[in-house]
Amino acid sequence: MSNEALIGLVVIGGIALIALIIWFVQWCSSFCPSCRKAWGKQVLQTLLLDSQLETRESTRIISHYNSKGEVTGNTMVPTTKLVTVKTYQADCQCKHCDHKWSYTYTNES
Ligand SMILES: [Zn+2]
Repeated sequence: MSNEALIGLVVIGGIALIALIIWFVQWCSSFCPSCRKAWGKQVLQTLLLDSQLETRESTRIISHYNSKGEVTGNTMVPTTKLVTVKTYQADCQCKHCDHKWSYTYTNES
């Protein structure tokens, strides 16, 4: 098998794996809390409840190089970044039994 074909196969396999994981996550969250059937959840609407700025601590690594381009050491630099945390409420209805429920979730950006 040629290298190009092998790379193509790995890429297709990777995409198929990601699609499978996304499908599995959706399947897990699609159950109706009333009749417990899969693929029952239908999101009717999402409402933005809250939006606030928060700080997140993280560490940045700066590498040092000598004249030959070799790494001579690393410095850990603490950094803070500002993120927007949004709280949403999703209103759902079951396709099978018309049961309605809602839940909240947060999203960081
Ligand atoms: Zn249901």
